[in-house]
Amino acid sequence: MSGESEVPMSGLPAVPMSGLSAVPMIGLPEVPMSGPRPFPPRVSAFTRPFWDALDQGRLMTTRCAGCATVGFPPRNLCRSCWGRELPWIPLAGRGTLYSFTRVHVAPGAFRGDTPYAIGIVDLADGPRLMCRMIGEVSTADLDGPVEMVVLRYEDGPLFGARVRTGASAPPGAPTDRTPA
Ligand SMILES: [Zn+2]
Repeated sequence: MSGESEVPMSGLPAVPMSGLSAVPMIGLPEVPMSGPRPFPPRVSAFTRPFWDALDQGRLMTTRCAGCATVGFPPRNLCRSCWGRELPWIPLAGRGTLYSFTRVHVAPGAFRGDTPYAIGIVDLADGPRLMCRMIGEVSTADLDGPVEMVVLRYEDGPLFGARVRTGASAPPGAPTDRTPA
């Protein structure tokens, strides 16, 4: 092992990458969905990198270069320090289920999907997001591990989450939501 193989870090911002999840960067699992997306996202010049990455199985967001806040959805203005330099970073796509609800009466576009579950997920990388839950979910899954998935519709991707079966932590075990 030679130190020469290490990338010199001088000149780069002193933001430790270890602050992010150590889960290796692999493509998100894909879930085939029937038909087109019920409510396709508006894609802007700013959000296009997010949707392009999702199409390739990666979940991305922005992290403030000034204060290292990782937000979701991606932003070009930091809500924490108002910084305007927010480079794109990959998210590991794992987290824990903070809460969920089951939707029986949905807005028009989603009426054909009822009943379905919407979850609030605390990502291991920090941000909390809300998304469709795929598969079975119950109160027994609260605080348990979930993984983000790509919902592959005919006209493009959306993101969702599902409970990681077989990965349940024993009762009383600490979760990834340990405060920093
Ligand atoms: Zn900031």
